[in-house]
Amino acid sequence: MHEFSVASSIARQLTEVARQHHRKLLGGTVAIGPMSTVVPELLSEAWKYVIKDTELDGATLHIEQVPIRARCRECDAVTEGHDPFVRCRACDSMNLQIESGFELQITGAELADDTENASPAR
Ligand SMILES: [Zn+2]
Repeated sequence: MHEFSVASSIARQLTEVARQHHRKLLGGTVAIGPMSTVVPELLSEAWKYVIKDTELDGATLHIEQVPIRARCRECDAVTEGHDPFVRCRACDSMNLQIESGFELQITGAELADDTENASPAR
């Protein structure tokens, strides 16, 4: 289970974003593909644990599950699914080019209004 290290890494990056803007982080969004080997439920749990008693405490992690997308090298059809698959939906070929599904990236950060916790130096 490596969700804890993933959650820590996400927390570190979002802490950076919040500090750069002198705002408190309210939430962040990560896109996760089925082949990233991260289990969304476990990541949610790990996130709560990782941010506890830090400056991110209370921030929500939104997990966006990206489907696997594969283009068929035989017929050019695109097959999508949340569960791993090996065959083209159109022609049953196994000659597929994976276009997405390995994602594990931060796609958004939600920051509090400037008024709260803002840097007094500005
Ligand atoms: Zn095909």
